[in-house]
Amino acid sequence: MITSSSAHGNSSPSANQLERARESPLSTAQRPLGVALVGLGKYSTEQLGPALLETKRCKLKAIVTGSPNKAEHWQKQYDIPKSNVYSYENFDSIKNNPDIDIVYIVLPNSMHAEYSIRAAQAGKHVICEKPMAVTVQECENMIAASAKAGKLLSIGYRLHFEPYNLAMAEFGQNKTFGDVRKIIARDGMDIEPGVWRLNKKLAGGGPLVDVGIYCVQGAIYTSGELPVSVSAIEGKKTDMKRFKEVEESMQWTMEFPSGLIAECETSYAKQMNLLRAEAEEGWFELNPAYEYDGKKGRASDGPFEFPQVREQALQIDDFANCVMNNRKSKVPGEMGLRDVKILTAIYESARTGKKVRLSEFSSHYKNQTH
Ligand code: NDP
Repeated sequence: MITSSSAHGNSSPSANQLERARESPLSTAQRPLGVALVGLGKYSTEQLGPALLETKRCKLKAIVTGSPNKAEHWQKQYDIPKSNVYSYENFDSIKNNPDIDIVYIVLPNSMHAEYSIRAAQAGKHVICEKPMAVTVQECENMIAASAKAGKLLSIGYRLHFEPYNLAMAEFGQNKTFGDVRKIIARDGMDIEPGVWRLNKKLAGGGPLVDVGIYCVQGAIYTSGELPVSVSAIEGKKTDMKRFKEVEESMQWTMEFPSGLIAECETSYAKQMNLLRAEAEEGWFELNPAYEYDGKKGRASDGPFEFPQVREQALQIDDFANCVMNNRKSKVPGEMGLRDVKILTAIYESARTGKKVRLSEFSSHYKNQTH
């Protein structure tokens, strides 16, 4: 996350830095990189496709879908030739398509590992949606596959490119309001029945892995620290039919090396969207914090505001920049692995009723937040 010493307001360096990064033109020798979207569901249709119309360093050039009926609309909308429409079966032949540099995996969680690995084996750079995968082993396999192919791997953590969440990181890490003592993070929604997110095999877990992951992320970038332990309690189910396979809600606490505590909550039955930090000399918060639009920032000395950005366009363009300059993403596979380790520890704590220590982070991720 950013480390500049900016404070509140529209002229914040955070927003300016982002805009500059986005607007610096490509040299005439550079062509925008080609992106293939894998899985044309809601997130691809409503967010990533439109974002790829705004990116400067890359362009949507191919689609991979199991629904041939969707292809025609996408081909028209994004000017994609028939030869660049793939199915899940013939996806590996994307290896022979020089138009495609980056493959973006936007499938149900349990399919992330297989398709990320197949993309790396096809010689492509990969962006994979969150959560990175459903087990730690799968995340490690994905990192190994990209490394073996000599390609970059990044996770779709859009909030690392968005001014309000960058401001939270800046205020917390630069101690704008003094040392942060406590973070409160809540993310939840009332989910419709019958969707793959409620199927354990496809989703890998419930609201924790889907939206609770943003609380884990928010606490880490606001504090600039990695948790050393987690203690969790699964909420009592109020709807056994909808939540037959996955948890309905989860509450957990994360302890950080400085003594800071993060109190977190996620739910598939309750709307919540908060990231709040309480510090020695004041407080600062976003509510909503993780939505695409309409984020609101408030602090003990007043509200803070930034211009609306298309965070996915910034995120994808940053990755294209990384590929062009052979630079690791600031949201790399290792960060996705880190988070899946934390989510796994939260489930373990809820299951055993015991605090779970995350001692490996203090050595392995020394002085880093990923
Ligand atoms: P959707 O259910 O809307 O779309 C998933 C798509 O995956 C489907 O439309 C389908 O595309 C394809 N698919 C292939 N196999 C299956 C299957 N067995 N069951 C269901 N779909 C299948 O999901 P979302 O777009 O909301 O989420 C996709 C991923 O993106 C998830 O990992 C989610 O966590 C992540 N996400 C991230 C967000 C963020 O803010 N970073 C926001 C929302 C989602 P097709 O018909 O083309 O084959």
